[in-house]
Amino acid sequence: MRINKTFIPTLKEVGADAVIPSHILMLRAGLVRQLAAGVFSFLPLGLKILKNIQEIIREELDAIGGQEFLLPALNPIEIWEQTNRVEAMGDVMFHIKNREGLVLAPTHEEIIAFHAAQHIKSYKDMPQIWYQIQTKFRNEARPKSGVLRGRQFIMKDSYSLDHSLEGLDESYDKHYKAYRNIFDKCGIKFFVVGASSGAMGGRQSQEFMVESNSGEDVCAVCDKCGYAANIEVATSNEPVISRLENNPEIEEFATPNSKTIDDLIEHFNFPEDRLAKSVVYIVENEPIIIFMRGNDELNEEKLLKVLNTKNFRPATAEELAVYTGASHGSIGPINPKENIRMIADKLLEHSNGMISGANKDGYHIKNIDFDRDTKISEFYDLRTVKEGELCQTCNHPLRVVKAIELGHIFKLGTRYSEALKAEFLDAQGKKSPIIMGSYGIGIERILACYIEQHFDESGIIWEGPLSPFKIHIITLSPNKFENVKSFAETIYSKYQNISLYDDRDESAGIKFNDADLIGIPLQIIIGNKNLQNNQIEIKNRKSGERKIISIDEVDNVIQEFIDLGK
Ligand code: ATP
Ligand code: MG
Repeated sequence: MRINKTFIPTLKEVGADAVIPSHILMLRAGLVRQLAAGVFSFLPLGLKILKNIQEIIREELDAIGGQEFLLPALNPIEIWEQTNRVEAMGDVMFHIKNREGLVLAPTHEEIIAFHAAQHIKSYKDMPQIWYQIQTKFRNEARPKSGVLRGRQFIMKDSYSLDHSLEGLDESYDKHYKAYRNIFDKCGIKFFVVGASSGAMGGRQSQEFMVESNSGEDVCAVCDKCGYAANIEVATSNEPVISRLENNPEIEEFATPNSKTIDDLIEHFNFPEDRLAKSVVYIVENEPIIIFMRGNDELNEEKLLKVLNTKNFRPATAEELAVYTGASHGSIGPINPKENIRMIADKLLEHSNGMISGANKDGYHIKNIDFDRDTKISEFYDLRTVKEGELCQTCNHPLRVVKAIELGHIFKLGTRYSEALKAEFLDAQGKKSPIIMGSYGIGIERILACYIEQHFDESGIIWEGPLSPFKIHIITLSPNKFENVKSFAETIYSKYQNISLYDDRDESAGIKFNDADLIGIPLQIIIGNKNLQNNQIEIKNRKSGERKIISIDEVDNVIQEFIDLGK
């Protein structure tokens, strides 16, 4: 591509709303422009990379027997009503004002089940893997981070249709492997976490995550054995609180001006893990006190699973007084005012020598034995794992990292097929709902994640098959020196398909900066001075290494570079 004839509007600076590296660099390198919040236009260079990503995905999906579809973004709302997902999606689903009965699809499980219901009649018609690369619409609450969270974005979504659970396992495994291949080929470092399947309503599911400070998810990872889990479910080898041999009776004592755990540690010199802090929640109008160790953090996702309802919230100060007789910081497990449900984190099970609030402002109780002195019988894993705690599998210290979800694979089961009557006759002639799986990858997220992992202060660093070009031909003063122009034209004509050719009449500085910003792997720099000695300069974008080579070597160097897959 000749830069002179291509729209690559590079920028020195971007607006203050772009804060993460991929967003800033995609704007600066002329890959995208924002049209509205969460809505982006892809410019020629950006589109070229999207196509490279899609080619890799098609290759891998075709290899596992996937058949490509193109389903409409406009969907009849009745289909979504049959699975109760209009309600479940809530504000995320875009509704259309001047054409009632149509919505913009945020995903396509329903439509797949609808077509399966039309034509899959027998177990002999399965397995099937249907996929598409298509635009999704989601009214994300606060779209930020550039294309990582768009209101309109392209997804590769595939769906498996099987007649047995073993079949589903196979389809799921095929996707698992295909996803690993896709992200490996794209040059993205990732890890896989088991995930809860949320609103989808299925059994097993896993997320493919990319470690990045720009991520919105938090995960605990072990660099030794590969354990990785979303912080919502992550566990560690943190030991339970040991029992003290000396176990005196409980004793109330005054703790004026000590509202927080840190106050207690500071004023009384208590060890952090002998303190049991409490939080009060209102769960479906009923209070519940939750006890946690010292400065451990209550994990609301873990609590949600224990309570089995989303209808809970922290209690107000007035509610605390009514139910416990004390205010925040003085609440404890001994004799709260009301007969109230109490639960505790597993680390507190069988602990003694504990200190907690006395349910009386300004007082605490010490020597609490959770077995002897409290009525608590429910202990659950409720705490958030912290950096440095030891891995449960291999005892290596865990890291707690931010991450971006790049892909998600689900064993859906029969939720959608039952609702939409997608049924088949099995070998015995019995009617059963089709067993489905659903598998998604965000196309723009691959691009953004790649950049998050491959950039330096000068710009993007492309390597491998995502790179929009392999070589970047830079001419120095081509309008002044005919030899420069003609040599560059010769190289370009030979390597047109893989070259970005800077044939502009711009200064060397501008050309070098743009080349580093766009980040094509190999730069071929053609200037009059070198050329007079039958030489040109090459620069490796990644290493920054520059070399003067003879013009006779150019073909070999380029060939070697391409062969190395750089
Ligand atoms: P997130 O938790 O980040 O919102 P999700 O759980 O809603 O993601 P899925 O419904 O599983 O995502 O969608 C499959 C894939 O589509 C995701 O793994 C992600 O790569 C991509 N994706 C989802 N939402 C967006 C978005 N708003 N913009 C860009 N890509 C997205
Ligand atoms: Mg989402």
